[in-house]
Amino acid sequence: MNDNIRDVIIIGSGPAGLTAAIYTARADLKPLLIEGPQPGGQLTITTDVENYPGFPDAISGPELVMDMRKQAERFGTEFITGEVTSVDFSNQPFTITVGDASYKGNTIIIATGASARWIGIESEKKLMGSGVSGCATCDGFFFKGKEIVVVGGGDTALEEAAFLTRFASKVSVIHRRDQFRASKAMQEKVFNNNKISIIWDSVVDEILGVEQGRVTGVRVKNVKNGSITELPCEGVFIAIGHTPNTKVFRGHIALDNHGYVILKDRTSTNIRGVFAAGDVADPHYRQAITAAGMGCMAAIDAERFLEK
Ligand code: NAP
Repeated sequence: MNDNIRDVIIIGSGPAGLTAAIYTARADLKPLLIEGPQPGGQLTITTDVENYPGFPDAISGPELVMDMRKQAERFGTEFITGEVTSVDFSNQPFTITVGDASYKGNTIIIATGASARWIGIESEKKLMGSGVSGCATCDGFFFKGKEIVVVGGGDTALEEAAFLTRFASKVSVIHRRDQFRASKAMQEKVFNNNKISIIWDSVVDEILGVEQGRVTGVRVKNVKNGSITELPCEGVFIAIGHTPNTKVFRGHIALDNHGYVILKDRTSTNIRGVFAAGDVADPHYRQAITAAGMGCMAAIDAERFLEK
C-alpha cells in the first residue's frame, strides 16, 4: 500500500482523463493518472483529426493525445501505467489497486472510455486507418465521391450511413438480420435516402485490399443461404456498438443497462467524491472534444468537492 493519500486519482488517459489532469494539476492538486492498456485511448487508432478546434490543418490522433499528455505532465501530473484490477469506494479515501500496488485518493475521476466493437477478422485489423474506420464523424470527409460500406443495424450504423451520404457516392449498409434495431425514425431516414442500399441477413466475412494496403472491397456472406458475393468499396465503417470500459467498477458504482456510468449531477456519480467523464459516461456524443470538455468539468467538480 502506498500510504500517500492523493487529492485526485484519474483513471484513463484519453482526452477526458488528460484534460482532467491538466486542470487538476494547474489547481495544484498533484493528480495521479493511471494509464491503461491502450494509453491515449481511441484517438490513438484515428488518423487525421480535422474537427478538434484549434487545428485548422488537422492533427493526427496520436499526436493530439501525446500533446495533451505533455501538457498534463508539464503542470506536474504523475503517471503510472497499468490496468486497475480492483477498486474500493466504500470509504473515503478511496482505494485503487493496480496489480500489486494500491493507491488512495480523496477523489477519483473515472475516464476509462469505451471501446468500439469490431468484427474481429484479421483484415479489419490490418486495414484500420487505411479505409476501415469506427467513426463516420471523424473519417467520413476522406471518402468524397467514393463507395462505402457500413456494418451494423442500430442507430449508430444508420446515423453514420445517412451522414456518409454527404460525401460518398453510394453507401451500402450490411446487417446480419432482416430487421434493423434502430429507431423507426432513423430507419425511415435511411429507407428514403436513394444513395443508401441495404444488404440484409449478411455479414462481412473478409475486407479486401490487404495486399494493396487500402480497402478495395468486402466479401459478404449471406447468413441464410451461405452465398458469398464481393462488393467493391473504398471505405468500411464498423458501427456494431461500443462497450464502456467499466468491468472493474461493476458492483462499486451505479451503471446503466449497457454498462455506462450513470451521472447524477453534472459529472458526479452515485458515490460522493467519485466523478466520471468522457465516453465511459456518454453513449451519445463520443467525440474527443466532448470528452475533453467533460474532463474539465470533472476536474472542477473534484476541486470544489475537495474545497468543501
Ligand atoms: P446497438 O444498438 O447495440 O446496435 C449494434 C448493432 O450492431 C445491432 O444492429 C447489432 O445487430 C449489430 N451487431 C452487433 N455485433 C455485431 C457483429 N459482431 N457483427 C455484425 N453486426 C453486429 O449499438 P449502437 O447503434 O451503437 O447504439 C448504442 C446506443 O446508442 C443505443 O441505445 C442507440 O439507440 C443509441 N444511439 C442513439 C442515437 C440517436 O438517437 N441519434 C444515435 C446513435 C446511438 P443485432 O441488431 O442483430 O443485434
